[in-house]
Amino acid sequence: MKLVSVIGSGTMGNGIAHVFAMKGYKVNLVDISQDALDRAMKTIAKNLDRMVAKDRISEDDKTATLANISQHTSLGEGVADADLVVEAATENIDLKLKIFKDLDSHAPVDCILATNTSSISITKIASVTSRPDKIIGMHFMNPVPVMKLVEVIRGYKTSDSVTEKIMDLSAKLGKSPVEVNDYPGFVANRILMPMINEAILCLYEGVAGVSEIDTVMKLGMAHPMGPLQLADFIGLDVCLSILNVLYDGFGKDKYAPCPLLVNMVTAGDLGRKSGRGFYDYSHGGKDLVVAK
Ligand code: NAD
Repeated sequence: MKLVSVIGSGTMGNGIAHVFAMKGYKVNLVDISQDALDRAMKTIAKNLDRMVAKDRISEDDKTATLANISQHTSLGEGVADADLVVEAATENIDLKLKIFKDLDSHAPVDCILATNTSSISITKIASVTSRPDKIIGMHFMNPVPVMKLVEVIRGYKTSDSVTEKIMDLSAKLGKSPVEVNDYPGFVANRILMPMINEAILCLYEGVAGVSEIDTVMKLGMAHPMGPLQLADFIGLDVCLSILNVLYDGFGKDKYAPCPLLVNMVTAGDLGRKSGRGFYDYSHGGKDLVVAK
């Protein structure tokens, strides 16, 4: 595998481009927005600078990594010669289905098409293509250059050989891949989101306050971040949409999103990205201040 096309250059796409390019792969970074591509290149350069400052890579490594990445606003051009596509565009089912139909018609027939989706069914995405055996989930964690896990998700028709290739490739990137099957939330979010939802229910029912709930889980369970702070970091809208996927997919009350979460998202308190969630980030988010 030599040329990897990454679709979407936002939070995850720029991180995915960064790790492939640093391992010597040529990367075509594709986005509909030139602004997003420019921001992504700046973010990658800044993150590489940090690695240079920590003596983890040299200035030459940084230059070589950046030279491996080229920018594209046309999907057709960006994937025409790809050996692998990793899609990391906005989490929206209609958008992903459209992108995968386009990828299926523009990428070479033997090209593997992976998606970084957090919650959309791999089997559903595969069903709109003519190559369901070559569709797979490659679920990187945020921030991609730092986090070790890649959840490799086999759709109903994903072949053994494609799964093996993606497991091997993830290991070559210096990651620790884990193979799972395609059911709502996969493994990571099926376990994480009910925990976050239960933390929000504790707050909603008055069991404890924000910092008390987070402190119990940090000090008691050795979690690096409490569940409410983590929810703010992920984005409350993202948490709500994943909980809805679990609720719809399994039809069980235990996945019903807490009404407080629904209210916060409706009111626009989305966590760190909107400046306010369970904590107030209007002071830069360095000191956690519980939102009033
Ligand atoms: P983001 O909003 O930061 O970036 C999405 C990018 O996709 C934007 O730059 C947008 O311009 C681009 N885009 C939209 N439509 C496009 C199209 N048709 N073609 C090409 N680019 C297009 O989103 P993100 O947080 O990077 O999430 C991307 C994917 O990764 C989602 O599927 C999400 O569920 C998944 N994911 C996110 C996280 C996280 O913590 N943010 C973690 C794991 C997985």
